[in-house]
Amino acid sequence: MWSQRRVVDYGLAKRAVVRSVRDGRTLPRDVCDAQPYLLRAARHFGEPTERLCPVCERENVTNVTYVYGDSLGRHAGQAKATSDLAVMAHDYDEFRVYVVEVCQSCSWNHLTVTYVLGNGPPDLVGQP
Ligand SMILES: [Zn+2]
Repeated sequence: MWSQRRVVDYGLAKRAVVRSVRDGRTLPRDVCDAQPYLLRAARHFGEPTERLCPVCERENVTNVTYVYGDSLGRHAGQAKATSDLAVMAHDYDEFRVYVVEVCQSCSWNHLTVTYVLGNGPPDLVGQP
């Protein structure tokens, strides 16, 4: 079942960091600190976006999608292509997806959104 549950959007937090860099309150090197494994994941599993890097403005950022969940076994913590998620959402009850944007030019990285996928029962929150 392909439906995103418990979506958390980190857009506001990301904009606050970008504003802080533009105002000079935060040094770019403090936020452009992608670890080698993340840069490698961006190269091999990343998906291109149309969003220009908000820090260096030289390159579009790449989305890297990680999956975590107790039921995933060996898949937990792995980077996945968005196309893999539909299959996984069918095969597993519940796992959380983390989408991180990465600039391969300056190493800027920030979580953009997380959500839960899986074929488990829908959340009852908000229902009578
Ligand atoms: Zn950049």
